[in-house]
Amino acid sequence: MTTDRPDTFVTRFAPSPTGRLHKGHAYSALLAYARAREENGRFLLRIEDIDTVRCREDYIEGIYEDLAWLGLTWETPVRRQSEHFADYEAALDRLKAMGVIYPCFCTRKEIAAEIARAPSAPHGPDGALYPGTCRHRSADEREALMASGKAYAWRLDLAAALTHIGEPLTWKDELKGTVTAEPETLGDIVLARKDTPTSYHLSVVTDDALQGISHIIRGEDLFHATHIHVVLQRLLGLKTPIYHHHGLLLDEHGQRFAKRNLSVTLADMRMHGMTPEDLKAQLLSA
Ligand code: GLU
Repeated sequence: MTTDRPDTFVTRFAPSPTGRLHKGHAYSALLAYARAREENGRFLLRIEDIDTVRCREDYIEGIYEDLAWLGLTWETPVRRQSEHFADYEAALDRLKAMGVIYPCFCTRKEIAAEIARAPSAPHGPDGALYPGTCRHRSADEREALMASGKAYAWRLDLAAALTHIGEPLTWKDELKGTVTAEPETLGDIVLARKDTPTSYHLSVVTDDALQGISHIIRGEDLFHATHIHVVLQRLLGLKTPIYHHHGLLLDEHGQRFAKRNLSVTLADMRMHGMTPEDLKAQLLSA
């Protein structure tokens, strides 16, 4: 079928090169790719390598190799986040000017101690929320701490952000319908880390907009992140794409595939003689 709406559908697969791809990645990439094809749209690959310590060049090569083996093609040049820190800094500067972020000097240890002192502290999907210690600092205190050379991250002042926005936010989710954002479940997330001038949340939102992504197809493990992504999109004046959070593939032990579980990688499967057709058949029957 030819299309009368070229370029209206743009999706992406955005792996972090901190390990080799496994079956869960293959599933996600194939879903996005098939959908782009169906819609006569575009499929982009983005390398999310802001963590310059954990990301490795050979893993990036591995991603290209594995996706090509699966039969995927993508547009070049591929956007590598590590080459675009200036874009994330510009977004951070906008948020700074709006007064919706603050420097956070806490160490992990201090945060844990603060949370231990208030066991009823709110929890989100990633554990206890940041207790807000640095949110309460005066401007003078912040300046003095910054001048002292103490390392700091930048956190979203969620309450200030929501006041600034002034209305509830929603997004369209292809599987769940219209979802009302509940960013309180994530609290004052980090937007720029002490050692990296950005964070996953800030760079993903910036890039999706810069690359004109219309549909985000990703695993439901990232569903909770969307609650905060729509807030950042609104603050930064960016369009909210349509989301599709697909179910996660489980291994034979009922565990989701993850690098940390040492899941069998696509490279291993290939080495053991599996063909992309075998794998696709397996994924389709999952
Ligand atoms: N880079 C993220 C990951 O590998 C995915 C980002 C996204 O799809 O929004 O988990």
